[in-house]
Amino acid sequence: MTDNKITNLDDWKKLQNDYIVRATAANGTVRAFAAYTKKMVSEAKETHHTSPVATAALGRLLTAGAMMGVMLKGDGDLLTMTIKGDGPLAGETVTANANGEVKGFVYNPDVWIPLKRAGKLDVGGAVGRGTLTVIRDQGMREPYSSQVELQTGEIADDLTYYFVTSEQVPSSVGLGVLVDTDQTVRQAGGFIIQLMPGVEDETIDKLEANLKNVNSVTDMLEKGMTPEEILESLIGNLGMEILDTLPTSFKCNCSRERVSKVLLSLGEKELQEMIDEGKPAELKCHFCEKTYTFSVEEMKTILQAAKVTRLSRHNIIDIDS
Ligand code: ZN
Repeated sequence: MTDNKITNLDDWKKLQNDYIVRATAANGTVRAFAAYTKKMVSEAKETHHTSPVATAALGRLLTAGAMMGVMLKGDGDLLTMTIKGDGPLAGETVTANANGEVKGFVYNPDVWIPLKRAGKLDVGGAVGRGTLTVIRDQGMREPYSSQVELQTGEIADDLTYYFVTSEQVPSSVGLGVLVDTDQTVRQAGGFIIQLMPGVEDETIDKLEANLKNVNSVTDMLEKGMTPEEILESLIGNLGMEILDTLPTSFKCNCSRERVSKVLLSLGEKELQEMIDEGKPAELKCHFCEKTYTFSVEEMKTILQAAKVTRLSRHNIIDIDS
């Protein structure tokens, strides 16, 4: 392995931690990502108490989010993907940053629908028809936002379609979450292979042949294949070069301060009503289910801050006009 960002990578792997491998091939005309995400998906399942099909739906989007997050350029950049569908799951949201930190939730975690076929969870059936929205928040610049129609609701297909139509980058996306009979996460991972400008026809032919030879991602993971080995099977004969290996994990960065801003955003009238009720307010973070309680006294302080902010804004306008 060449330059990797985890100094004690072997130790990291022994702990069965999640990680992403980034590679290129065919003189840079192919770029590739593969990820092992069992821990992240297990944590999401434990946090949100998802049914098996909801675990698979969330796990697939989390895995894609992890890989797409590390495609971001800057440290403060943020990727948000939202799927909205007319199926019983209703939808899901995943957010990822460039450091491999990912979080997400499904709108209805308690979905129970028949299997698509023996051993195959019906993620497409749970999601239904709808849209996939991808937003990339890139610091100072205007956020980039794009929406596509869901193709199958199986997520990998939808992302493949998104990459080619919205980003004009032909891609192959494979995502797999295998839920065990006891509902725990047995395997989770995925890959994204992308064709860059200048790619030769011969490279595309070889890649297509390689893709035909591989089974599902969960099959590869069940065989014990690592992300490196998955990439080897997909682009190994195209002059693959592994660029780096990055840790990835389920992580929420919510805090009292951030949540208090949500209270503030409710507006003065609503805040006053909550204060008048005389009961503490409870706000739950959708991403990690952590509950924040604000006492009446704290709400009064927040309301006061809101008023001061409004007044100071008025003053600025007065001075300007
Ligand atoms: Zn949170």
